[in-house]
Amino acid sequence: MIDDDLVFVRPDVESWHERAACTRTDPDSHFGGPDGGTDEETRQYYNEAARRICMSCPVRRRCLREALTLDLQVGLQYGIWGGKDRRQRKALLKQRNLWREKQPAL
Ligand code: SF4
Repeated sequence: MIDDDLVFVRPDVESWHERAACTRTDPDSHFGGPDGGTDEETRQYYNEAARRICMSCPVRRRCLREALTLDLQVGLQYGIWGGKDRRQRKALLKQRNLWREKQPAL
């Protein structure tokens, strides 16, 4: 006899992205709003909203770790990741002596 609960459990396939709080929100909120953050006041509003979402996210640390890895590998990413904006992530990398100046500037 097969236990129905076990048939659909695939922990090796589940991605941490599936548990991300932002998957249920407007993607613009993490990238400065609908205009992409060109208006400072609007960008600040959306950034704060994004940070609040991140603070309640069960995978925030994992998200931030991935963002920092991407920041190092391909340059600083736009948007709020793990509750941190680009400048905050750059500061974290500098604190850990991981920042290399040859990376794209802010
Ligand atoms: S920490 Fe923020 S950006 Fe990262 S997955 Fe969670 S809600 Fe999304």
